[in-house]
Amino acid sequence: MADFAMDGRGVNDHESETELGAVWYAANYYYEASYRSGREYGGLVFRRPNGMFSVTVRKGTWDSLNYKNATADVPAGGVPVAMWHTHLPGSAARGVSEGTRTVLAVGDLLGDLFGMGYDDFSDGDMDLARRATAARQHNFPIYLATATVIKRFSPRAKEQIQVWKKPPPSGMQPKRPPSGAAPGTGVPNAPLR
Ligand SMILES: [Zn+2]
Repeated sequence: MADFAMDGRGVNDHESETELGAVWYAANYYYEASYRSGREYGGLVFRRPNGMFSVTVRKGTWDSLNYKNATADVPAGGVPVAMWHTHLPGSAARGVSEGTRTVLAVGDLLGDLFGMGYDDFSDGDMDLARRATAARQHNFPIYLATATVIKRFSPRAKEQIQVWKKPPPSGMQPKRPPSGAAPGTGVPNAPLR
């Protein structure tokens, strides 16, 4: 992927008390937009001088995000502590043919069976965290978020991958069928996995 879009970079002003809290907030705040635009969102988690945690955000392609010079997005005084980004299912791919999207969706299904689904870290993700950890000489985790899961890969932790389940963002929760609809019909938005 040579064409990394770098528009829309910025800092989210929201402050959380923990690193995980900041990622959780970002997952709820950005996942729906990421899904609907078919682009990964992500950036850094950083600690503010007041001890609170916030995120930077930039947009990638539907299956990748460029962290190059990501520290430049962190405001002065902020200390980067981790990376975060969204992962999208094949159904979110934009600008691809219906056939390609079907192939991607089947790939998600097969991936789930073998522990390589869209909600798993890629080799590239883990490599990035390992290199950042080695360069900083302390754990520098990477997080991924889907609509319903947050995962953290910490290269130097005893438990390298940790998983938290969460409710989908409010705009992505399944809608109730219109009253009077037959059971099993009229559900406009099926819940995401
Ligand atoms: Zn990833």
